[in-house]
Amino acid sequence: MSEFKHKKSLGQNFLKDDKILNDIAHAIKLEENDLIIEIGPGQGALTKKLQAQNVNLICYEIDKRTKPYLDKLQTSKTRIIYQDILKSDISEDIKDYNYHNLYVIANIPYYITTPILKKIIDSKINVEKMILMVQKEVADRFCAHPCSKDYGTLTIYLNYYFEIEKLFVVPASAFEPMPKVDSTVIQFTKRKTKFKIKNEEIFFKLIKDGFHLKRKNLKNNLGNYDLKTIEFILKQHNLSLQNRAEEIPIDVFVEIANQL
Ligand code: SAM
Repeated sequence: MSEFKHKKSLGQNFLKDDKILNDIAHAIKLEENDLIIEIGPGQGALTKKLQAQNVNLICYEIDKRTKPYLDKLQTSKTRIIYQDILKSDISEDIKDYNYHNLYVIANIPYYITTPILKKIIDSKINVEKMILMVQKEVADRFCAHPCSKDYGTLTIYLNYYFEIEKLFVVPASAFEPMPKVDSTVIQFTKRKTKFKIKNEEIFFKLIKDGFHLKRKNLKNNLGNYDLKTIEFILKQHNLSLQNRAEEIPIDVFVEIANQL
């Protein structure tokens, strides 16, 4: 590992703690005909743990300097794609696989955490579960509840698609080189009971507008909306237009969006 020059700009903090690697690789009970997407295999530490479970693997790695480590891991069941995940056509890459469940398991580069999640959601690839290492503070935002400082548009966007659960905290000392922050491994599970939305575009616009000015209440931020209808729904939940968006649970936003 020592002669490899880690690029900070690519989020290259490699996991060196064998127990944590095992815990991530075994967080889901994998079966032989599952397909796993790994983002950023680096020198292949997690890749090897996944390979040992005899699953199908597709790994996206942007840095070709990892080729000496990763080329030798390629097998009939493991494919390494040296490409930016954000520029990849994931649905095209997985289309020839005959798999049972699709999972994403990765120690992702933190500088593109949200773009990666957006990419996976927009790719519409029907991921069953994701096990992802993210920055601890970011995990707090993903799992935040209404009325907490971390609850915002990103929380709602991700919780609309997934049930999100923190699995365990990983100290900075588990990485080489050591990052400045601690990390958390989180599990995203595809929602079994989906929110019933008439029009997603209206829903997401409502969320964006509702949170527009963080210190303003709903009356201010949603001035262009049918405030009577919104007030009527809020009242049924003991809320009012004086509340801020950060105090409104997702299902109430859904109810409002469906009446607009
Ligand atoms: N999986 C390895 C581990 O756990 O030790 C490395 C994880 S490291 C946090 C993130 C990896 O993502 C690096 O190998 C980095 O080169 C790669 N990476 C960064 N940006 C990427 C991108 N846009 N697409 C694919 N891989 C990327």
